[in-house]
Amino acid sequence: MEETVYDVLIVGGGPAGLTAAIYTSRRAMKTLVVTKDIGGQLSLTDDVENYPGFESIAGLTLSQKFQEQAAKTGTEFLFDEVVSLEKQASGFLLKTFGNKTLQARAIILAFGLTPRDLGVPGEKELTGRGITYCATCDGPLYRGKEVVVIGGGNSALDAAEYLSKVAKKVYMLVRGEAFRGEQVLIDKVKATDNIEVIFQAASKEIKGKDRVQSLLYESQGNMSEIMVDGIFIEIGHMAKTAWLKTAGIDLTEHDEIRVNQNNETNLSGVFAAGDVTDVNYKQAIISAGEGSKAALQAYKYLQGDKPLLPDWKINK
Ligand code: NDP
Repeated sequence: MEETVYDVLIVGGGPAGLTAAIYTSRRAMKTLVVTKDIGGQLSLTDDVENYPGFESIAGLTLSQKFQEQAAKTGTEFLFDEVVSLEKQASGFLLKTFGNKTLQARAIILAFGLTPRDLGVPGEKELTGRGITYCATCDGPLYRGKEVVVIGGGNSALDAAEYLSKVAKKVYMLVRGEAFRGEQVLIDKVKATDNIEVIFQAASKEIKGKDRVQSLLYESQGNMSEIMVDGIFIEIGHMAKTAWLKTAGIDLTEHDEIRVNQNNETNLSGVFAAGDVTDVNYKQAIISAGEGSKAALQAYKYLQGDKPLLPDWKINK
């Protein structure tokens, strides 16, 4: 049986990837989105209040709307993870974690960012057993319990404030001397009785047999241990792009994909959009806009030098 060759294969199903899919499908390009989930980080946001057209909407609902619209325009979906990309004489060959081989004439990389690991003993073994990277998703499991949030930025402050309403006690472990977040959030955390902040504290080890039992940390030369039921790691995000380096794609010093203003990477036929690129602001609305730009540029690439028609002139 002959393998399907997609016109455009989009890696990632967040705002950038799904918007790109709506655009490529509407231009009758055979489109496949390969993604681990729908919505990415947007789907984890409780309440989105800055996406035009929606005064307030749950991130998951908004993500599902994107997907429904993409599916309606003809986009196909594969729930898997792309692990390699290879340029061929014509088009690209991609392999997935689930052992699939896929072919496409153009690629749009839009797989966002991944929560950063703490990198201490016990973390890998106890992830999902008391260690989590998403307060909104797993917070409700810690009702009446004692938890620790690690990190000192907006994500950690947000998580601590939210968890203080669910858990009995919230410790916050900040490695520096001060928070690195918005004053409004800092003030809220400071004013909350059941949050105890420990500054200049470096996490050293997570202990527990089948579940998390405690966290060992070092502060000013002394080792301490806090007994907790849950550990929320909120120390920022990173671009998991090592596999693209192998494919010859230019990355920044932060491992983000370098794109020009038309969302082209250095490899002809490969485009990128959203949080995984070196775009300035990591926001759903920006990712959606960047995704549409990448799609239009992919269309232009596949059409050769033909002029780019505006979207509204396309017959449905
Ligand atoms: P940030 O990069 O802003 O902050 C990361 C925090 O984690 C810093 O306090 C940093 O410490 C700490 N950290 C990093 N590595 C380690 C480590 N190995 N051990 C202990 N601590 C560590 O990331 P955020 O996820 O907080 O925010 C990302 C972006 O999202 C920001 O632009 C933020 O403003 C935005 N955001 C906004 C929200 C809001 O407006 N409500 C909510 C959530 C995110 P150090 O300072 O020492 O480097």
